[in-house]
Amino acid sequence: MMNEYSSKVSSHVYRLRGDLRGFWGDDVWIVDGKITYSPPASNVATKEVNGYIYPGLVDAHTHPGASYTEQLVNDAEIHRRLDASASLGVTHIRDCGGQRDANDVRREDQPKVIHCGQHIARHKRYIRYLGIDTEPEELVKQVQYQCSKADGWIKIVGDWIDRSNGEQSDLEPLWPRQAILDAVAAAHDLNTKVTVHTFAHATINDLLDAGVDGIEHGTGMTWDQLVQAREQGILITPTVNQVSRFPEFAADASKYPVYAKHMLDMDARRRAHLAMMVDAKVHFLMGSDTSFDVNKRGLPYELCDAVSQGMPVDVAMGAASFEGRRRLGLTTWEEGAAADFVVYTADPLKEISTVLSPRCVFIDGICVRES
Ligand SMILES: [Zn+2]
Repeated sequence: MMNEYSSKVSSHVYRLRGDLRGFWGDDVWIVDGKITYSPPASNVATKEVNGYIYPGLVDAHTHPGASYTEQLVNDAEIHRRLDASASLGVTHIRDCGGQRDANDVRREDQPKVIHCGQHIARHKRYIRYLGIDTEPEELVKQVQYQCSKADGWIKIVGDWIDRSNGEQSDLEPLWPRQAILDAVAAAHDLNTKVTVHTFAHATINDLLDAGVDGIEHGTGMTWDQLVQAREQGILITPTVNQVSRFPEFAADASKYPVYAKHMLDMDARRRAHLAMMVDAKVHFLMGSDTSFDVNKRGLPYELCDAVSQGMPVDVAMGAASFEGRRRLGLTTWEEGAAADFVVYTADPLKEISTVLSPRCVFIDGICVRES
């Protein structure tokens, strides 16, 4: 029987016991790397896995293939980042942009990756080396090209400081309205979703009108825009840790006082803004916005920060696990689904720091990390 299956598939049969989060039944087994509700034959050796069990975490914004220099990130570094994510209970990643596709080197014991192509930005309007310089009239073509390299999502930079205005320089949208409308339509024509980096309020109406699928950070959104985003089914990744760094961005911008004040004003409203997102019941994803630093502030650290900033723990855990997975079209507890799980000894809903040290992590039914 077993030699019908490739060597990739775990030969272990597991029974999951305890608190199965996001699942209403209580009898689940892992057979041949997949979830089944049918008990195996009584002569099959079955290991029990006990604890607080969540569908594997999805870091919806981390950059395993991104480099901040001219040099591309090398294979060993991509492995290091993926391994760090796996150790933190992450079984899926949406990479939100990177020069390299981590799938080119990914091993079976590492998180599955939705590659978003490379960040689409404009000359001098994003982090150096990270974005592809694109002028508005080239945007549709660039979108089509990135769609061809991506796994169903692409990433556009929506706003950044425009340093061409001297002391008056501020955070400004990158794209004229029509350019972003055309860009999103072009991606949708290719069955690809679009998520957009945005800090600024001025960017949001065009994104909503364009019908983007995701918003990263979203610090400039008003109540009405959050409600509209929810109604349109837009997925929002609040990146609580990244957003807490606005005072650093302001401190680095002493030549640009208008921009610095803009960032500090948003920082002052940070906690209230997160509460407003929660009250608006937006469709959250959770993302660490990490790259080389994923071992130090990967997704579980983001979850701890989000909860400490007032996000209800069940909202954060749902968005990081079963709710977020469903929002991204990933499986959770369905019969026949890949057995991707994270197991905790204690209940994260009672003590969120539990997520920093999972007991074990399963990818395709293989226990890839155990502590
Ligand atoms: Zn990012």
